[in-house]
Amino acid sequence: MRLILLGAPGAGKGTQSKFISAKYGIPTLSTGDMLRAAVKNETEVGKKAKYYMDAGLLVPDDVIMGIISERLKEPDCADGYILDGIPRTVVQAEELEKMGVDIDCAIDIEVSDETIINRLSKRRICGNCGTIFHIDHNPSTKGDICDKCGAKLTIRKDDEPETVKIRLKTYHEQSEPLIDYYAKKGKLVVIDTVKGIDETKQQILKALEGLE
Ligand code: AMP
Repeated sequence: MRLILLGAPGAGKGTQSKFISAKYGIPTLSTGDMLRAAVKNETEVGKKAKYYMDAGLLVPDDVIMGIISERLKEPDCADGYILDGIPRTVVQAEELEKMGVDIDCAIDIEVSDETIINRLSKRRICGNCGTIFHIDHNPSTKGDICDKCGAKLTIRKDDEPETVKIRLKTYHEQSEPLIDYYAKKGKLVVIDTVKGIDETKQQILKALEGLE
């Protein structure tokens, strides 16, 4: 099963991809996570990406296509994968196809801008293990300390309100055209999230059962 998760930053792609990964035994390939790891480890890719990420802009395609093509060669991708955060533009979608990526389905997780702004301003991330919390809906039992590893929780630099506005603008201008792109290919499933995480999950499960 080869899937793409579409949706604005903070739409819940990470949350949903975790349960799909667990149910189908396929890895989630998150370009955002790969880039954050590269920045943390101060690799060449990390040094190139940091400026764009901090500004809420897209990292140049050559950097992104380089990291995803390497990741796709790893053996755990043989039986399928979930792409989370890529493609972000129609050009990236076309590049993936040139690399031989033939997806079964693109799942578009629809969330209003208002919800996203609220969600991201209350998102906290563990600087050590990467676990994500939300101060209202999914708080750590230890306040601003990660209850998994004990490290301090922080706000992602790109979750600061001004950067979120830029990220949403970037999403609407550069990533939203992908919805139409996959609809025209007959591969789009639109998921409505207004009824909450569990209902969203059920809708995704139903869509995936149709692909099995
Ligand atoms: P995310 O965690 O998916 O929201 O990604 C965080 C940041 O990483 C984005 O705001 C971009 O700066 C960068 N990024 C992640 N994936 C891509 C991509 N496919 N193309 C360009 N930039 C990306």
